[in-house]
Amino acid sequence: MLEVANLTKEYPTPQGSLAILSDISLTLARGDAVSIMGPSGSGKSTLLYIVGALEPPSAGRVTLDNQNPFELKERELAAFRNRKIGFVFQDHCLLPQCSVLENVLTPTLVAEDDGNDAQARARALLEQVGLGERIAHRPAELSGGEKQRVALARALVMKPLLLLCDEPTGHLDHKSAEVVASLLFELHRQQETILIVVTHSSELAARFPTRYELHEQQLVKR
Ligand code: ADP
Repeated sequence: MLEVANLTKEYPTPQGSLAILSDISLTLARGDAVSIMGPSGSGKSTLLYIVGALEPPSAGRVTLDNQNPFELKERELAAFRNRKIGFVFQDHCLLPQCSVLENVLTPTLVAEDDGNDAQARARALLEQVGLGERIAHRPAELSGGEKQRVALARALVMKPLLLLCDEPTGHLDHKSAEVVASLLFELHRQQETILIVVTHSSELAARFPTRYELHEQQLVKR
């Protein structure tokens, strides 16, 4: 379960405090999927970073799996993120010097008690995103859509409870975006993650059962 209660975010500026998010509350359970749209600068990424425990809120509470990540010490927080949260960004953020398989395995390297099945999970995910034959390739040898499919496999290799995507299809052509979106939904259903996707694409947003828009610092249902 993800619970966001009365979340507020302000940034200090020389002209005073700049309010970005005001009193946002949201509860999502395993298997839920929501999209968030909104104009540029409306705070979508900020909200995603707070929910993903990358950025603390100014006020309010975030709990994931009954844990408030912002109460954890730095090392525990890093482990919490590694275990519970997968991220896909607009830019794939793959390591150029590593193979496709090594990229997907990256999150498993820092996990302390990961067991021995990380390789099998990574290979299975790469099969599922249609890249089973490309595991030894470097990212530079892949198309934009293929790189995003690797990023999706990497985000899911730890079987996270929460999958956060910030403009996952923003840099892709229409056909590649469609493939990535379909895989995203398929893997979300299979792993029963909580899925939150920030997007500018009304086509992608329309595929979600629940759609929100950030409007005047508030999360509004559409
Ligand atoms: P979106 O993802 O909807 O485009 P963002 O969450 O990136 O919006 O940004 C929301 C607002 O917060 C923008 O006006 C941005 O300039 C501001 N902002 C983001 N990060 C900071 C920061 N570290 N300090 C001050 N303002 C920031």
